[in-house]
Amino acid sequence: MAETHKAYCVKDREMVEMKDPHEITMKNGRKAMQGACPKCGTKVTRIMGGSGAATADSAAGGAASSASKAKTK
Ligand SMILES: [Zn+2]
Repeated sequence: MAETHKAYCVKDREMVEMKDPHEITMKNGRKAMQGACPKCGTKVTRIMGGSGAATADSAAGGAASSASKAKTK
């Protein structure tokens, strides 16, 4: 399966195929793919979707619900 790494280039204002894509971990612990725009060379970053964001959301929701459960108890 061919991997394609598309990211939004703010200069071209469109999705471009990342040049020299590599995985990075951002300060908040999320993974992202970073590369360069093949057209203008601007650094483009694509946050790895789904799981990271979903985990953060469900973690927050879980904490809130368990907190209310603790109160009910
Ligand atoms: Zn570009």
